Amino acid sequence: MITLTGKKVSEGVAIGRLSFYRRDTKEIKKFDVKDVEKEIMRFQKGREKALLELKDLYTASIKDVGEANAAIFEMQQMILEDQDFIDAITGVILEQKLNAEFAVQSASEHFIETCVQEGKNYVQGHDTDIRDVSSRLVRILSRSWKDRLLTDEPIVLAANELYPSEAVQLDKTKILGFVTRYGAINSHTAVLARTMGIPSVIGLGEALKKDYDGKTIVVDGFEGKIYIEPDYTTLTRMKQKKENNVSQVKNLERLKGKDNVTQSGQRIDICANIGKREDIENVLRSDAGGIGLFRSEFLYMENRHKLPTEEQQFQTYKLAAEAMGAKPVVIRTADLGGDKPAECLDFGEENNPAMGYRGIRISLDKDEMFKTQLRAILRASVFGNVSVMFPMITSLEEVQSAKLVLETAKRELKEEKTAFDEEIQVGVMIETPAAVMISGELAREVDFFSIGTNDLSQYTMAADRQNDRISRYYDPHHPALLKMIRIVTNNVHLEGKRISICGDLAADLSLTEFFIQIGIDELSVTPPQVLGLRKKIRDIQ
Ligand code: PEP
Ligand code: MG
Repeated sequence: MITLTGKKVSEGVAIGRLSFYRRDTKEIKKFDVKDVEKEIMRFQKGREKALLELKDLYTASIKDVGEANAAIFEMQQMILEDQDFIDAITGVILEQKLNAEFAVQSASEHFIETCVQEGKNYVQGHDTDIRDVSSRLVRILSRSWKDRLLTDEPIVLAANELYPSEAVQLDKTKILGFVTRYGAINSHTAVLARTMGIPSVIGLGEALKKDYDGKTIVVDGFEGKIYIEPDYTTLTRMKQKKENNVSQVKNLERLKGKDNVTQSGQRIDICANIGKREDIENVLRSDAGGIGLFRSEFLYMENRHKLPTEEQQFQTYKLAAEAMGAKPVVIRTADLGGDKPAECLDFGEENNPAMGYRGIRISLDKDEMFKTQLRAILRASVFGNVSVMFPMITSLEEVQSAKLVLETAKRELKEEKTAFDEEIQVGVMIETPAAVMISGELAREVDFFSIGTNDLSQYTMAADRQNDRISRYYDPHHPALLKMIRIVTNNVHLEGKRISICGDLAADLSLTEFFIQIGIDELSVTPPQVLGLRKKIRDIQ
């Protein structure tokens, strides 16, 4: 048995098979498939996706390089639709019972040869295009294969480090736990793991070896430890710990429907943070008082190279609004950039992305994209209790400009006779020291506030939340931060507005009493943390 210690990121115990995440594997794997029909269907799905990509590429490149040059992508579509090409690939899958990626690669080479022999005109001299089509297909298929992680059996995912854009694309139902070599506790990937309630340990270093791929692993998210090929005693102990945890969680269930009130009668609301539509179900199960933070940027990251359309966004926001009924749903406009780049936007090279092109700065720069999102939020507002919140605010002017775009979106919808909530509440996040200092002025401009303690800590302490090396400087208990929280709360309350905390500090039970004392109105935490926080509040004198 090998025992490794890292940093705890998300509590819980996971027991399963370790599987290393493969990023951009150049080598094409060859493996046997049992269900050839299913594999052919996977190939056909990949082929349809490749066709769509090529159609988009064709349209986009007409503008850049003209119709004649763009025609190359039309020709590539013809290759994908060529029955001989399709038959060659499905033939390999059917006859040799091999995986689709390998079939595509080997059949493409064969196809090139037979085209020459048989004098197939339209592909003559286009070997490169056939290979281009083939590698597009392999990329798409490998991704779907990666998403499926080669197995239907749930696994514990290991990686050097996982980017938020990758984490958000994984099939969560297949992941029992996360373990990584590197990474920081406050990174967005860690935030995602907590939101999903997946036991995770990070920062295990080089000791987490590739050789462990496929071996049994136990992840103890409470202690920040992992055990590879655990011995009988450890396995039994960890199984017991897992069961105890399950029964503790069950025990908390009795708090469902109960108030978040201290023994002396002080109340505070508890809401939940989400990143995607799949999380809505978890919020309902958690008995949270609403959605205190919808990190909408994950919709952009999931959508890969294309911006999510207004309709796509509207459907997701509507779903959240309807699911929550009268309970609030706070949709934060896209907080992209920093450690949350998205393939659909060009972020350029930045020396210091955390202090760069991110959050509201992008929205104000890309006003059409911003307006599209605001239109989607406005349209969803008639289906529940929706409000909108702007991230990464540093000035009053930013808020005023954002509100102007909101007004334009409202005006357009009115002209189109599309319904929306005219009184939709507007809030801002307090994530920068600048926002703290002008919170009084901001409070006269907006309806509500939410403190993003993750970013407020990094900007106050000048300590990158991603950088593990200086993590000891990232101290959310620092008196400077606690003072800031108190100052903002007072300023906001002086204007009669509401304030919540939606950063990870909201779930820090050692601070719950302090938050109640200073009069925080709401704490927004990950769905699995809701009932534990309720218990803490109810135990306070
Ligand atoms: C925060 O900064 O605390 C916050 C809630 O936003 P995010 O973690 O998504 O940056
Ligand atoms: Mg933030």
